[in-house]
Amino acid sequence: MAKYTGPACRQCRREGTKMFLKGDRCFSDKCAIQRRNTVPGQHGASRKMMKEYGLQLREKQKAKRYYGVLENQFRNYFKKADAKEGMTGENLLTLIERRLDNVVYRIGFCDSRRDARQLVRHGHFTVNGKKANIPSIILKQGDVVAVTETSKSNAKFKAIAETLDSKTAPKWLAVDKAKLCATVAELPERDDIDFDIEEHLIVELYSK
Ligand code: SF4
Repeated sequence: MAKYTGPACRQCRREGTKMFLKGDRCFSDKCAIQRRNTVPGQHGASRKMMKEYGLQLREKQKAKRYYGVLENQFRNYFKKADAKEGMTGENLLTLIERRLDNVVYRIGFCDSRRDARQLVRHGHFTVNGKKANIPSIILKQGDVVAVTETSKSNAKFKAIAETLDSKTAPKWLAVDKAKLCATVAELPERDDIDFDIEEHLIVELYSK
């Protein structure tokens, strides 16, 4: 399964915005965007005004990087979103929002989507009682994501249980702190995504 393995902070600097890819570090003064908000590379400091295509491309890259999705997969999500009724841009974001790794992150089991992806790959979760180690699984309304019984006794998850706060999870996820699980109570809507993204630019790019 392909994934980006380069420096996370470089991605934020490229998009010129904090995408919270590294957990605690993103909230500290070590954040690269706070220290040096320039585009990486030799001519990064002399950022030029972007034209229409550049703006569309950057918005698409930002969304991909935020969710940790590569181009082919992102394009497939776009096709699915386009085939659904409603606004394609909103469909796209709310579809990706339902990925298992994103849900694990949203529940509060870890500090970043990168960590969430790793925890999922390592087999720490079940979906509806069955082991699930594929980060890209798209969850449906009523699905239950839970920490496996084996992992519950793991020190890492005991510590997570202490800090898990059901109030910080989005309203579409009903978190049960005692059982270390969460139910997709309803499907996410556009307003549930607090990421600063102009999805219409992505639609325009792919519609060329
Ligand atoms: Fe982005 Fe976090 Fe790195 Fe800051 S610390 S640049 S928010 S990944």
